Amino acid sequence: MKCSVCGHIFDPAKGDEGVAPGTDFADVAATWICPVCGAVKDKFQELK
Ligand SMILES: [Zn+2]
Repeated sequence: MKCSVCGHIFDPAKGDEGVAPGTDFADVAATWICPVCGAVKDKFQELK
């Protein structure tokens, strides 16, 4: 998944700020925000 605002990549295998490695993006808390720009989870788009 990629942040449409700043381009930050969420890698499920690595996890992210406050997200354990191996966590599926669908399982990330709805309140989670981009650690770089603070965009809400809805701003993330699937990497094609
Ligand atoms: Zn961002």
